Amino acid sequence: MTNYLNKPYGHSTVRDALDSIYHGKCAYCESIMEPASSGQVEHYRPKKNLIDDKAHPGYYWLAYEWTNLLLSCARCNGKKSNKFPISGKRIPGPGAADTDRLCKSEYLKAEQPCLLNPELDDPREYLRFNFAGELSARDDHIRGRQTIDLCDLNRDDLISARKEAKDWFQRMLEKYLEKVLSKPVEELRNSEACGKLVDDFLGPLFEFQEERTGAAEEYSAYHTYIMDNFERVMLPEFPEGDARKLVRLAYRRFRNSRP
Ligand SMILES: [Zn+2]
Repeated sequence: MTNYLNKPYGHSTVRDALDSIYHGKCAYCESIMEPASSGQVEHYRPKKNLIDDKAHPGYYWLAYEWTNLLLSCARCNGKKSNKFPISGKRIPGPGAADTDRLCKSEYLKAEQPCLLNPELDDPREYLRFNFAGELSARDDHIRGRQTIDLCDLNRDDLISARKEAKDWFQRMLEKYLEKVLSKPVEELRNSEACGKLVDDFLGPLFEFQEERTGAAEEYSAYHTYIMDNFERVMLPEFPEGDARKLVRLAYRRFRNSRP
């Protein structure tokens, strides 16, 4: 076997390039890594010691393949380890064509990996969050379930961090909602005046929340989920009546104002 394990793939130039692509976030759990140098160069397909198939040599020919490298935190990387379950047929070795080494190649995709590939798969198709920051598989999809298990994406600290980010948004909405509710009833009953009130007081909070859906933001997938599903997952947290109506109005006006 070639000596491919002297770790040039872990060279700082490789890690720095991945750090830039992933905005310093773990490709699996979206935690920003502190210090930045704690990010690890992770092989999507393990380069050796495949846990799921002891007779397999591991994907040694992909040890230096750029499309097989991701940036991962130590927690996700350690948990995932050399596991790579598949639903299709295990590929025994390199393919005949140069392009067969690419993650997006039909040759590799035929394995039907259970682990979602952060560069190829849209997590929204397979995963969903709840109000408490927990992940689950959308429609109980096997790839969603296995990815959560493989990287332990519902570990306590991750759930807490996601929930805290959401709680802050909710607290701010409640705080500024009070200011709107303290206005004279005539203003709240006048649709034009009311629209301006929620735009002025609550609009900036939705703007801020939308900024947190940016790719460089920690837990951006969760923030995106909150914004896209606001009426279902967050609105019920506000008391029925004027409070809920105003927050709904603010959200809809904000969304309608976006291109
Ligand atoms: Zn991670």
